[in-house]
Amino acid sequence: MHRLARELAELRGTTVAASSPQGRFAPEAALVDGEVVDDVDAHGKHLFLLTGAGAVHVHLGMRGFWLRYPAPVTAPMRQVRLRLANADVAWDLVAPSLCELLDDGGVRRVVERLGPDPLRPDADVARVLAAWAADRRPIGTVLLDQAVLAGVGNVFRNEALHEVGVHPARPATELDAAERDRLWAVLVSMMSRAVDDGRIITVEAPDRLALPEAESRRVYKQERCRDCGAPVEVGQVGGRTAYHCPVEQPA
Ligand SMILES: [Zn+2]
Repeated sequence: MHRLARELAELRGTTVAASSPQGRFAPEAALVDGEVVDDVDAHGKHLFLLTGAGAVHVHLGMRGFWLRYPAPVTAPMRQVRLRLANADVAWDLVAPSLCELLDDGGVRRVVERLGPDPLRPDADVARVLAAWAADRRPIGTVLLDQAVLAGVGNVFRNEALHEVGVHPARPATELDAAERDRLWAVLVSMMSRAVDDGRIITVEAPDRLALPEAESRRVYKQERCRDCGAPVEVGQVGGRTAYHCPVEQPA
């Protein structure tokens, strides 16, 4: 989402035409239409487009995506929830799990429900480390809890736990301070790098960006660990599929 916010920032400072070809966001789009986009911000998996009419709050969920069309722009597809366009470009939002218009109080309430975001410079590290130290749930479950930490999805939690050599089912309380510190540091660097790359690549290779998607991770959806070659073990942790290397991440 931070990568997307960076790209959508090209709308910043420009007046946008807003519409909802699909209709579900039509009343709100009418309010945003003709307003200036003041800023584009992300907190975890939540995106905020700040306009004179309020903040357009978007969560993509599992199926949502944005499409970008440089001018000259063609007519949007019928299923587009929101089109934002200026003279140079149109951005179309399709199938988000959430798209709503919020005032300042509404934005504050959304952010208050979220834990610190490792990609934000103002992230409260101490709060996250203390929460991990006190949580008896598996660390693989805790990492997905957006109220503890915002922005970590299933790829990051599996790859980060592999990087620090921690089994996803270990209770968070059992990690020692050095492991917790390292887990935070790994999440920050892994997620920052993904923003720059535009995708999640955790494998080191001379030409990393050319790696096919299926070969870009060390354990996530891998048959064998790309570090040591051990068969990756698959289980359910926190309601999502967890992948770990039995050699480097012992129970
Ligand atoms: Zn391994």
